[in-house]
Parts: sequence; C-alpha cells; structure tokens
Amino acid sequence: MEAPGTYRAGYWLSEANNLRPFSVKDAVEMNSELSLYELMDVAAGLTSRQVGDVVSYAVSYNINYSNYCAASCPICAFYVPVKIKGRTSAGYELSVEDVGRETEKAREAGATEIHIVGGFNPGLSVEYYESIFAEVKRRLPDITLKALTIPEIDFIARVTGNSIREVVDRFRAAGMDAHTGGGAEIFDKEVRRQITTPEKISGEKWLEDAALIHGMGMKGNSTMTYGHLENWEQIIDHMIRLRDSQIRTPGFLSFIPLKFSPENTPLLKMGKVKGPSPADKDLRVIALARIIMGMAIQNISVYWVSIGKGVSQIALNGGGSDLVGTAFSEKIFGATNRKEGSTTEELDHLIREIGRIPAVRDSFYRIVRYP
Ligand code: SF4
Repeated sequence: MEAPGTYRAGYWLSEANNLRPFSVKDAVEMNSELSLYELMDVAAGLTSRQVGDVVSYAVSYNINYSNYCAASCPICAFYVPVKIKGRTSAGYELSVEDVGRETEKAREAGATEIHIVGGFNPGLSVEYYESIFAEVKRRLPDITLKALTIPEIDFIARVTGNSIREVVDRFRAAGMDAHTGGGAEIFDKEVRRQITTPEKISGEKWLEDAALIHGMGMKGNSTMTYGHLENWEQIIDHMIRLRDSQIRTPGFLSFIPLKFSPENTPLLKMGKVKGPSPADKDLRVIALARIIMGMAIQNISVYWVSIGKGVSQIALNGGGSDLVGTAFSEKIFGATNRKEGSTTEELDHLIREIGRIPAVRDSFYRIVRYP
C-alpha cells in the first residue's frame, strides 16, 4: 500500500486513498522536495510509459509575414512599432509573391510543416491572411500549415470587426490546418502585465479563445514562456491551467516551454532581468511538464533553439519526447541573436546519441518517416 502523499503521473494519493490531479500546492511541494535528479527520474519513467523511445521532430519552415506590431511586449526583440511604419527601413510585410518564394524554399528543405506567425499588424486584412495561406497550399497542397498564435487570431478578429469563429472558419477554408499555440507567455496576471502590453490578451482570454477554437475542431500547440520574472508557483499554475483546459476541451497537440531569450529585448535593457535563466530550470520545467501534464498532453516538446542542443539532450532523458523542429528561417528567436540552425541529420544524431529513436512528424504529431 502506498503512503498518502505519494505522487503518481500527475495524480496525488490523498489521505482518503483517492487519486486526484495535482493542485498547484502539490506540485510546488514536489518541486521543492525532490532533487533535480529525482524529478527527472520520475519524468523519464512516465515518458517511457506514455510515449516510448521515439523522439519526434518536424521539418519545419518558418515564415514570419510581418514584424510591424501594435503591441510592444518587453520580452520581444522582433517587433517594429507599427506607429513608425513608413519612417523606418526595419519593418516589413511579405507580399503573396514573397510567401510563394518562401514556400518554394520550404519545398527545397523537404519541410513537413510550414509555421506562419507575425506581429499584430492592423494594416493587414482577413483577405491578406486568406491569400497567403491559399498560396502556400496552392504550391504545397500536402503540407500541414500551422499558423498564427491565439493572441494574433484574437487581434485579427478585433481589428477587422469579425468574431473569432468567423476568422477561424475563413482561415481554415483558405488552408490553415492548426494554430501555433504561441502567445500564452505566463498566465499569471501580474507577471503578464510586466512582460506584455494590454494589446496582448489576458491569460484567461487566451484559454477561453483556445477552448473556442478547439471546440470548432481546430487543434494546435500550447506554450509557456519562462525564465524572466516568474516564480515556480506561476510556472506550475500555468501548466495546471493548460492541463485542465485540455481535459475540458481537448485540442492541444503538445506543450512547448519556451525559454525567454533576453538579448536585445526591452526587459533586459530596462534591467529587469540580468540574463538567461540557468539550465537546471530548463530541466525542471520539462520534468514537471511531463509529471503534471503528461496524462493530458503526451507530447512534451524540448525547443532546442531556446535551450541549446546539449541541454536538450539531457531534457529528453527527463520528460521530453519531441524536439519541435528544424526551424529553418526562424526570425523571432533569431532577433535575440539565437541564430543556431540545424539539419535533420544533426537532430537524428542528437537523438540517437542518447539511445532514442528519431522520427520525422507532421504538425499533428503523426509520424511521416523514420530516418
Ligand atoms: S511578442 Fe508578439 S505581440 Fe508582443 S511585440 Fe512581439 S510580435 Fe508583437
């Protein structure tokens, strides 16, 4: 008989001998009581039971359609304020022809998915997005098109006077297959206020929009940006809110923690952060994600672009089961001087080196091939 207080795959054995899902308090206690090694060991056991030995990744080609943005998030190095449009050479908007050219590069790279995101650009119409999505699908009808963060979808609906339902219906008809799950940042109100601006929706609205979009049958990823001003309780609260949303209205394909990359960001310039958070935090985040969320969201992704390839290999041995993708042409982390690239051969090697099996997947985590 297990003792009360024993944890098991995101559940807690209570005094009454009932299993109940972890609360924030349970998980905060577990995180402070277990050493990093112990936490990773629990997570590794769960990974092996929930997903086995395969580590997947997508051959992903990123298209960032515009860097003009009506928000000015202190955590972002990518945006150019839309109010200085016409007075700067730093801003851009891709035309349909530009997107067509990028799509051809994705074809040459053997991409299994195209990932499209950009800034909150109030000058772009619903028809603009429809035409760039249609252009991608005209050239590559079989590619999966993962597009737009939840706050971008919300922004487009607001500035164009449509409902979220209307824009998602139109974008899906034009070729969008999934949302990207970005823009979740940290749901905690106070931290969110300091790292974003009011143009970016609240954590509550993010979850509400995600549930609405999932209820329409469109799936996507879930994310969290950590390593800035947040504490462990806020990280765990974020994961638990995503887990509960998934249980109520399934639709998240994966959870991708994104480590904040401070270089060139206003948050670093303001002196609110001193530099990147340490690697043991990356490893604890991945392990906790597996333990707290693995029973609801089985694909726990390790984004090597944000934490580096070496730490990613360790994280795959402590809860991770996916490397996200090759991220060809990525510009958002690139704006913070994280310009590491990778080939599929290198990702395969990283995975084999730790005794796991590499697999190329599409945006829906369906295996396309074993290299
Ligand atoms: S994070 Fe997104 S919404 Fe915020 S400034 Fe950057 S591009 Fe704009």
